[in-house]
Amino acid sequence: MFTEKMNGMKKVRIILVLFVCTALLSVTESAHAQKFPTKWLSSITEERTENIVGYLASDMLEGRDAGTRGGNIAAEYIVSMFKEWGIEPFDKEGYYQHFLAAKNGNSWVTEADLDISGLVEDGNENRSMKNVLGVIPGKEEGFVVVGAHYDHLGIDSTLVGDVCFNGADDNASGVAAVMMIARAIKMSGKQPRRTIIFALWDGEEKGLLGSRFFVKKCPFLSEISAYMNFDMVGRGPAENPGHLSYMYSAGNPLFGEWLKKDVKKHDFRFAPFYNASENLIGGSDNTPFARKGVPIVWYHTEGHPDYHRPSDSADKINYPKLTDIARAACLCVWRLANVREY
Ligand SMILES: [Zn+2]
Repeated sequence: MFTEKMNGMKKVRIILVLFVCTALLSVTESAHAQKFPTKWLSSITEERTENIVGYLASDMLEGRDAGTRGGNIAAEYIVSMFKEWGIEPFDKEGYYQHFLAAKNGNSWVTEADLDISGLVEDGNENRSMKNVLGVIPGKEEGFVVVGAHYDHLGIDSTLVGDVCFNGADDNASGVAAVMMIARAIKMSGKQPRRTIIFALWDGEEKGLLGSRFFVKKCPFLSEISAYMNFDMVGRGPAENPGHLSYMYSAGNPLFGEWLKKDVKKHDFRFAPFYNASENLIGGSDNTPFARKGVPIVWYHTEGHPDYHRPSDSADKINYPKLTDIARAACLCVWRLANVREY
């Protein structure tokens, strides 16, 4: 009887100890959920970043014009890297989100904008394009989208001399940032609270076609907590080479505070200019998301004389700066995916 009573008390004590341990564990975990391990941040290296930009911006990819051979090779390359790193496909259809686009007068439209069969029948130029979408599934509901366009201007054979628009800054640099962030988070083995969608858009140069198509077709738009955009993040103005324009939705002041905190802690090789705006419409793939009221973070290092010229080449990219932008953005993605409210 006594022994049995002791056993009973022991049981209670063990259960209590277990309970306290579990409680402590979950407290530490929630505190840690907001921190990304430095070890994996340093997996974003200049060498890896340079390899990605160098490949995408090589003449072999023919300027990655949407719906052409060079564009398709770029998409296949991104998918092959995602597979190697364990980034999962967006849905059972795989990594590609296909869509048809056609020329309507001077502009391009997709099948999400209107029924383009008439345009196609009338002999208007039309192409099959595709977004590349990879995911790291979250523990709970909700999504964060991290995107950059991978298409560029292709080849202009009427030019004299260099005919290939390599688009190293515009926007192999942004693709490299998204890919490096995906890899670092996957390799860390930590599962985010929200599902992170890594989106490489097609047809941006023809009028934000890929991101517009995604937003129009997205059945869970209201569950997207934030959209992060990269477009041209590898250069900088000659008079201020470290300049980074950090644009974010004015309704989310935390986005600015996070970077201010991280810049103090890490020795990043860029100088942010904070630009909280109520209107992040125009310029890039943030537009369709901003129009729907999705909070935005947008990294951009400004134009330069090689903008939309064949001379936008990989050798002119500032790799230390691009690498650090990807690292800083990785910390931001981790917060976007884990902080309960912002
Ligand atoms: Zn461009």
